[in-house]
Amino acid sequence: MALSPLRLVYSLTPADRRLYPKEIGFSSVSMAYSLSASKLQTYHRCAFSYYVRYERKVNTNQFFGTAALGTAIHQTLAQAHRDWHYQEPLPALDWFLSCWSAQAQDLSPTQVEEGRQLLGFYYDRFIASQVSLHRPLAVEGRIQASLQVENLEFSLTGRYDRLDYAEDGLELIDYKTTKEVKLSHPEEMDLQIGLYYLALEQVYHQTLRGMSLLYLRTGERVRYEATPEHQERVQQVIADLAWKLRHETEWEPQPGSHCDRCAYGRYCAAVSESPVPLPEGCAAGRGNLQLVLSF
Ligand code: SF4
Repeated sequence: MALSPLRLVYSLTPADRRLYPKEIGFSSVSMAYSLSASKLQTYHRCAFSYYVRYERKVNTNQFFGTAALGTAIHQTLAQAHRDWHYQEPLPALDWFLSCWSAQAQDLSPTQVEEGRQLLGFYYDRFIASQVSLHRPLAVEGRIQASLQVENLEFSLTGRYDRLDYAEDGLELIDYKTTKEVKLSHPEEMDLQIGLYYLALEQVYHQTLRGMSLLYLRTGERVRYEATPEHQERVQQVIADLAWKLRHETEWEPQPGSHCDRCAYGRYCAAVSESPVPLPEGCAAGRGNLQLVLSF
């Protein structure tokens, strides 16, 4: 389960809220513009693909799918770390398996057995080797914070799998159930870490020291150190995105190796000699948001 989503909420004046209803993409209740870590990463890769996917909402099926086993594993680990009594140094494997029994009721027998194996592997690799297990600050948590960028007020919310106390700060834990270790581009990881660095500092008044990805199928742990530079970088990118949302004039394609995985090539002048128009029925552009945001 990915760390995310994070949301941006534009702060509008009461008059703005009356003037600008749903068609510009804000709900009439929250006036919220959603921004996830993966959205920000898409924007960083290519402004045009961000525009087509998120602003015009041209969907492809390749990004969606169910992952019932992964969801049940995440819920099991959340329950196991949250509900353990912490009166003994370590829980037994049976504790994790009893949590699994509660979470795996809708899965096939094959998935139930696969989940048992994954939890056994998780236990051997990440629990049994510890001297004692510490209660996390939160599991499957949600954070919310605000940010002022370019005279716009934003609200950030995000989700995470587990938040642990670390020496002099906090450590984010993200469980991965992919069959192999697939790491994001370093700059995209920097953005994800920066978003959480910023939000956690506001909410808990503590510094994010690192983010660990625990690969449950391979037993690998990949750790990234978090620094103030991550926060500065994400503020730069959000400021750039805010400018484009207001002016909607420079959603330029940024071709590169990532084009191999892009589903929007047929609309894109950078890779197609005759790009086709965006499909009928996709969302309208926002127009110039400069008029609707409060300053
Ligand atoms: S094909 Fe490449 S340049 Fe064109 S929208 Fe996709 S990522 Fe951007």
